[in-house]
Amino acid sequence: MLNEIPRLEHADASSIEEARSLLAAYGEKAKVIAGGTDLLGLIKDRISGPKMPMPEVLINIGAIPELTVLRYDEARQSLRIGAAVTLTQLEESAIVREKFPLISQACSSVATPQIRNVGTVGGNLCQRPWCWYFRNAAFNCFKKGGEGCDAVTGEHQYYFSVNGLGVCVMSHPSDLAPALMALGSELEIASKSGSKRIALDRFFLGAREVHETILGPDEFIVAVNVPCPAVAARMAFVKNRIRDTWDFSLASAAVVLEMSGAVCTGSRIVLGGLAPFPYRALDAEEMLRNSRIDKDVATRTAQKAAGKAKGLRMNKYKLGLGAVVVRDAILAALACQADMRR
Ligand SMILES: Cc1cc2nc3c(=O)[nH]c(=O)nc-3n(C[C@H](O)[C@H](O)[C@H](O)COP(=O)(O)OP(=O)(O)OC[C@H]3O[C@@H](n4cnc5c(N)ncnc54)[C@H](O)[C@@H]3O)c2cc1C
Ligand code: SF4
Repeated sequence: MLNEIPRLEHADASSIEEARSLLAAYGEKAKVIAGGTDLLGLIKDRISGPKMPMPEVLINIGAIPELTVLRYDEARQSLRIGAAVTLTQLEESAIVREKFPLISQACSSVATPQIRNVGTVGGNLCQRPWCWYFRNAAFNCFKKGGEGCDAVTGEHQYYFSVNGLGVCVMSHPSDLAPALMALGSELEIASKSGSKRIALDRFFLGAREVHETILGPDEFIVAVNVPCPAVAARMAFVKNRIRDTWDFSLASAAVVLEMSGAVCTGSRIVLGGLAPFPYRALDAEEMLRNSRIDKDVATRTAQKAAGKAKGLRMNKYKLGLGAVVVRDAILAALACQADMRR
């Protein structure tokens, strides 16, 4: 049953400065909101706990002009994606389809068109777990400030990890994060003390942390900067899910290959749906370096990518599934005709 939204204060920030000072003024009582597709569900369902206080003030950052920019800078060879750009805008952008097809492929696999029309890039990166114990008010799990993880002894066959296991065993739900990470993206973050830039590689926290990202209560994402790969690059995103109409990932892989003729000179391989954070498969990337990729090389690399995973009682099948999506993503990237010319 969906409950009504409790009485809350709501403030529309019209600039980054205003959002900063509102966050500084309200402190931990406030949360930023963009599309609301994640946050409002949690509020309606009264999901809270000692480490997850119910917000009293929502600060809407969705209309701040700098956060709605989607622009390719030809001189810097870099794509700037404002945090409040919607997933549909990103998916449908002609320049994104042409130069960064990986991003549009990942976007189009997220949720439903209705959710993509409203859900934003910043919200997708900062969404909370979609673990059914977390989203049920009857369970006070570790992420809300409770003692342990209900999923370990409960049902965990689908949206849970096989890798990077700690206290929390949810698998990170974002499809966009592996794609942006595989492209070496950087985040611009605002806080009351100023702005900073950080590689997306360093944004997500581990499975022993209550929060999924490094963001403090007064911080928010302003934009994601995506560099154009230095040399001819090919890329693909592959996602496996139970229902093709809409579903979270059981396993996904984002792959970027830098090529010199038929030789792969470098790569980035990031797995989704398999760990509590987007998981970069560094050993597999090393294995691809200076190789001529064929089906056999792709299969062995994919096995390496999934190699260190262990799995839980009910989800060991995801070890094989992880290897399949990585193999398919490597082969799909090889066949990709993206125009990366400078
Ligand atoms: C039915 C359903 C299916 C879904 N399926 C998928 C799927 O297959 N793949 C997938 O990747 N996702 C999926 N999602 C998640 C969806 O992509 C997110 O809900 C959406 O992207 C969140 O964006 P939003 O703008 O609505 O975020 P909001 O709900 O506004 O915010 C979400 C969280 O992010 C924080 N936040 C928002 N913007 C910022 C910012 N700029 N800086 C810092 N913090 C911020 C908020 O405080 C909040 O904690 C699904 C969601 C639903 C409801
Ligand atoms: S997997 Fe994480 S979010 Fe789910 S019950 Fe365990 S601690 Fe909570």
